[in-house]
Amino acid sequence: MREAQLYEVTEGSRVKCTACARYCQIPEDKIGLCGIRGNVGGKLQLFAYGKIITGNVDPIEKKPVSHYMPGTKVFSIATTGCNWLCQYCQNFDISQRRKIEGSDVSPKDVIRMTKSYDCQGLAYTYNEPSIFIEFARDIGVIARREGIINLFVSNGYLTPETVELMREFLDCITVDFKGNGETAFVRRYIGVPDPEPIFQSLLDIKNRTNIHKEITDLVVPELGDDLIQAQKLCRWIYDNLGPDTPIHFLRFHPDYKLMHLPQTPIKILERHHKVAKDIGLNFVYLGNVLGHPLENTYCPGCGEIVVKRFGYNIGGWHMDKRNHCLTCGYRIPIVGSLAKTASESKFLTVIP
Ligand code: SF4
Repeated sequence: MREAQLYEVTEGSRVKCTACARYCQIPEDKIGLCGIRGNVGGKLQLFAYGKIITGNVDPIEKKPVSHYMPGTKVFSIATTGCNWLCQYCQNFDISQRRKIEGSDVSPKDVIRMTKSYDCQGLAYTYNEPSIFIEFARDIGVIARREGIINLFVSNGYLTPETVELMREFLDCITVDFKGNGETAFVRRYIGVPDPEPIFQSLLDIKNRTNIHKEITDLVVPELGDDLIQAQKLCRWIYDNLGPDTPIHFLRFHPDYKLMHLPQTPIKILERHHKVAKDIGLNFVYLGNVLGHPLENTYCPGCGEIVVKRFGYNIGGWHMDKRNHCLTCGYRIPIVGSLAKTASESKFLTVIP
């Protein structure tokens, strides 16, 4: 446990947490919705500081991130708790747990583990990392100093204060929309009143940081698969983040409280892909569809496959050292060249 940085004292001994857009107002001896920040004696404490519930070696492509340091190995960590209440969460055992549990680790221990498994990066993932931002920052600052990249897999429900702290260490963020970020969907299936803070945070990240951004959208069949909403989301991304922003439409599979739904039909994902391409987004991917041709990166100049993908593996690279297409010379906006670890096996459970 450690005193949080992102909070304000309000009236009496109440505190207002500013780590996420819920802005919980927490009376003394109570905790915020995420379950890991609470008011002790008029101060906001991050109870999960120094505790990680899981640690795994993963390929960066699993996050999913396709345009940043391809082929790298990342050490993925999480605490318990979350600021969202997704009814389909695949990590619900971690994210919806309202107990502080896990292994005791200092920021230096996390760096040591990252290095000992030859990972070039650290991913803060499985639950929403902004809820443990001070712990992530303390790890991330050391990581950056040691040449290790830092990556957030986030729901984007952030605040200007969180974005400010992210500037100190974060290199890459993938912001996960669900059900196209449609208001009725996020209210009913996530317990979030309004998706607007996600859009504001993305603009804030764009305007105030150099953090690489990718977008995902979990397409939930029957509940969050509306093409008009997908069109709105893609239009917003095109207008505000630009046509080269990668977007990944992810296939839903049943979990937690939504076991009765089917997997997202491939046709629906392909229609989402078409919507995004028609709007003008250049790099549109389908995720969780092993072997589908839309896992690949296609050159916007000539249509050639410049990165051949199979799931999280990269099986072909058709670019020069500066990431220009070998067929037509078009510069593909991918940060970094193919990592030496691209062909290695990159899955390992370190902290089960
Ligand atoms: S991080 Fe947790 S305590 Fe803070 S506002 Fe969000 S849900 Fe509430």
